Amino acid sequence: MDQPLFILMSNMAIPWQIYFSAVVFAWGACWGSFFNVCIYRIPRNLSVVHPRSHCPRCQKPIAWYDNLPILSFLILRARCRQCGTKISCRYVLVELLTAVLFLLVWLKFGRPLDPRPLGLAPVASLGVIFSLWLVVSGLIIGTFIDLERMILPDRITWGGMAVGLVLSGVWPELHAPPSFPNSFPIGLGLLRSLEGAALGFGLLWAVAIIGRMIFKRDAMGFGDVKLLGAIGAFLGWQAVLFTVMISSFAGSLVGLSLVLSRKKKMQSRIPYGPYLALAALIWLLWGQTLWQAYVSILMP
Ligand SMILES: [Zn+2]
Repeated sequence: MDQPLFILMSNMAIPWQIYFSAVVFAWGACWGSFFNVCIYRIPRNLSVVHPRSHCPRCQKPIAWYDNLPILSFLILRARCRQCGTKISCRYVLVELLTAVLFLLVWLKFGRPLDPRPLGLAPVASLGVIFSLWLVVSGLIIGTFIDLERMILPDRITWGGMAVGLVLSGVWPELHAPPSFPNSFPIGLGLLRSLEGAALGFGLLWAVAIIGRMIFKRDAMGFGDVKLLGAIGAFLGWQAVLFTVMISSFAGSLVGLSLVLSRKKKMQSRIPYGPYLALAALIWLLWGQTLWQAYVSILMP
């Protein structure tokens, strides 16, 4: 019944497990480097593949050995080699964040009922690991674009919703409970994805409409509505409820402290996307663990 891959993974010597973790970390850092390009170029409607990376001040192209994720930032001490312009810390932050999150997602993989490090919710399919890497990627790109420009591009939100639906058909076990055998039916995967997208989209859409009626202005951006739809399409309706709860709590906490510290006025807008992303990431990594704890408290 056990797949050979699980046996291989669980019998592997510790040095090999460390080696694989390092490879995944580096793999994540490389993607993070590409996401930096996406964060800059997508909202400016530029191509993400052409032209090659160049310094925003002196326009000189960046050589491959100066473009190594994390390392080059440290070696060049956050400056352009040609003109010495300071490079924003955001670049290394995105690379580190992507590397760490890719690694955490990878550590979720293994035999269905074996425990995972750090209390991570288990995942038994490589297809799901790949899908979750994709979710992490969309959330990171969306977060940093929202922080900088106060928009969530359709490529991330509508795109995420469409890809979430398709992948739920390809790997329906994306929506299966961890103890479930690998053969989760396709129809059920698609149904769970549709439910999640509809609830996510519908819930925030209602909040946006009601908010507009009460406050006579847009209290909620439509990008946030679509982003929660995309989160639901990948992670299901439980993820939507959790994300709404945690993100509104975290958002009001930060918003209130900004108002109290007089950095913002009561009427000023703060981007909500990063809070949705943060809550969705907590669910993505520990959701099943938290849900089971919650259910066992309700029904001992
Ligand atoms: Zn330069």
